[in-house]
Amino acid sequence: MYIEDSFRHKGLRRKLIEELLGKGINNADVLDAINKVPRHAFMDSGFINFAYRDQAFPIGAGQTISQPYTVAFQTQLLEIKKLDKVLEVGTGSGYQCAVLLELGAMVYTIERQRELFMKSQSLLLRLGYKPHFFFGDGYEGIPAYSPFDKILITAAAPEIPPRLLEQLKVGGKLVMPVGDSSVQRMTLVEKLSINGFHYSEHGAFNFVPLLKGKIF
Ligand code: SAH
Repeated sequence: MYIEDSFRHKGLRRKLIEELLGKGINNADVLDAINKVPRHAFMDSGFINFAYRDQAFPIGAGQTISQPYTVAFQTQLLEIKKLDKVLEVGTGSGYQCAVLLELGAMVYTIERQRELFMKSQSLLLRLGYKPHFFFGDGYEGIPAYSPFDKILITAAAPEIPPRLLEQLKVGGKLVMPVGDSSVQRMTLVEKLSINGFHYSEHGAFNFVPLLKGKIF
């Protein structure tokens, strides 16, 4: 299927970039990457006209595509560099994954909902994006491909999964919304040594839960 990226879409995307700049996203590489990804391709047809609003939307299976501001904010905190090896937990629509790939990262993305795993895989490949796809419980990480330079968790939990901290490189960064189901603090973890971590908090957010165990 051909996915159109019209002048209208491009114009709406530029407006979105200005909105993100106004909200404090100032990393030019991150803004550039968001400007390149056709977010409308990641939305269900009923929501396509809202693709460039700075809002989260349903993507099926009770999940959401993150708000562009949130995608930009998490990506900016990680300071992604070209060829960084990045683990993304929660592929969802695949949108955040595409933004990471536009930044030149090597992306390992894991999803536990089969429907979303299948859908995002075929869409990303159709758009020419080539991450490494995994189906399973991201709570456990992907030990066989660890360690990672950066880890981005796009679902919330009350604690950072210890296996993910283990799979982070010394000198690496992990970002995750930490808290209960109603509100979470965006938490940045820098791994200083094998057992040494520096934690900082960066505002309040609202994500769908990171679910443990059982695979659908
Ligand atoms: N990054 C996504 C956001 C998706 S919402 C995007 O850009 O669209 C969070 C996703 O995390 C959902 O798709 C949900 O199914 C997934 N998820 C929740 N718990 C998980 C787990 N333990 N392992 C892997 N994925 C998980």
